[in-house]
Amino acid sequence: MLFPTHLLAAAVLGRVSRLSPLWLVVGTALPDVVDKPLAMVGAVDLYHSVGHSALLLVVAVPVALTGRAGLALAVGWALHLFLDVVHVVVNGRPVDAVFLGWPLAVPTEPLALPPGSFFVYYIGSPSFYLEVTFWLAVAGAGLVEWYSGNAPLGR
Ligand SMILES: [Zn+2]
Repeated sequence: MLFPTHLLAAAVLGRVSRLSPLWLVVGTALPDVVDKPLAMVGAVDLYHSVGHSALLLVVAVPVALTGRAGLALAVGWALHLFLDVVHVVVNGRPVDAVFLGWPLAVPTEPLALPPGSFFVYYIGSPSFYLEVTFWLAVAGAGLVEWYSGNAPLGR
């Protein structure tokens, strides 16, 4: 899933829940902010590694128990992983979801594309159209709120 869509999904969740939109967005950014640079400098072979590993639950759960900001941070992180799994399943590569088990399990034939190449590959895939639909739905909901007199992303 594209990074901006992760951020939008977290913002939408913040809008419809009682969780902090700011900490949701920070939490959902973390997996890519950590993993993409690690792969780009060659520290790891995959673009889904430590930040995308479900083994981080041992950190996320204690963070979630620290309070509302920690809970939003952990939920944002989990939302990112969930949406990345949805992306690989929708695009017909469900076996790639084993990235959740990194480093204990890794995809046997990962795409392993850097962000720019991934974007080119991704355009036109089923998940891409799902994302476009999501963006249009959010834009439509924002317009409805705007014309009804409410600020689109205000509280
Ligand atoms: Zn990701």
